[in-house]
Amino acid sequence: MASIFSRIAAGEIPSYKVAEDEKHFAFLDINPMAPGHTLVIPRHEVDYLFDLSAEEYGELMEFARKVALKLKKAVPCQRVGIAVLGMEVPHAHIHLVPLQTEADMDFRAPKKTLSAQEMTDIAKAIAEA
Ligand code: 5GP
Repeated sequence: MASIFSRIAAGEIPSYKVAEDEKHFAFLDINPMAPGHTLVIPRHEVDYLFDLSAEEYGELMEFARKVALKLKKAVPCQRVGIAVLGMEVPHAHIHLVPLQTEADMDFRAPKKTLSAQEMTDIAKAIAEA
């Protein structure tokens, strides 16, 4: 069965879409560490990021770079942080997190609660940046 992230990328499960191309999909994390916390995935379903081929890995990173540039334009921040964990969802994904301080990238901190409207507005702002 397809992973939850494959189903999101296929549009079968709703998400706050930020960007997509033929091979990749980017959407807001449903439990954000900071407003604008984005996940970037390859459509090709591979559990572990470092099991991607060198070519797929390079293309994913380049797609993530483009998303990060848009994210920085749309969400005021010092830096866009990048992280890979993959402890929860077995479909390779990159976390992009707008950072004001180092403390904004704390995976154990309580997550932010944003309204559906706020999530919609942020996703739109990133998509259009
Ligand atoms: P990780 O696998 O990197 O440890 O964590 C998975 C991340 O995916 C978490 O930050 C979690 O909030 C996010 N996540 C899990 N399920 C969903 C989902 O159905 N939709 C979205 N948008 N994010 C999800």
